[in-house]
Amino acid sequence: MSIRIGHGYDVHKWGSDKPLRLAGVEVPHTIGLLAHSDGDVVLHALTDALLGAVALGDIGQHFPDTDPRYRNADSMQMLQHSAALAQDEGYQLSNADITIVAQAPKMAPHIESMRQAIAQGLGVSISAINVKATTTEKLGFVGREEGIACHCVVLMASLSESAQ
Ligand code: MG
Repeated sequence: MSIRIGHGYDVHKWGSDKPLRLAGVEVPHTIGLLAHSDGDVVLHALTDALLGAVALGDIGQHFPDTDPRYRNADSMQMLQHSAALAQDEGYQLSNADITIVAQAPKMAPHIESMRQAIAQGLGVSISAINVKATTTEKLGFVGREEGIACHCVVLMASLSESAQ
């Protein structure tokens, strides 16, 4: 069996009146994220990790933020499209480990819904998806609440011995 590792990282700046969407879940907060799409920084990091694992570039190449089609785009659809591209390359997601880096809001009440939304969106078991969150102890741009970051790593496995 062939395996591939992918890594994704994304940052968005606070300052929008859009609803805050993280990992496909609407999280109540006083401010939203600036973005051309729906600003789902978690799904963007995961999408980049999937594309990275199969050497298909990055989210910006597939869904340019200069393209009006992706204005307020549903990031779950971009994720699903990228998973389909990975599948075309012969790989499916084995597991994803996601770390949200934010000073606020509190993520703990939403973690299970986020895992569920991603698992459902990708058609994988919830046990394949881990979501965790940390603050930066008020340090740096995250600590000053200027923005939010997300890291993601994925493992992809070949669908069959011959698919490489
Ligand atoms: Mg992004």
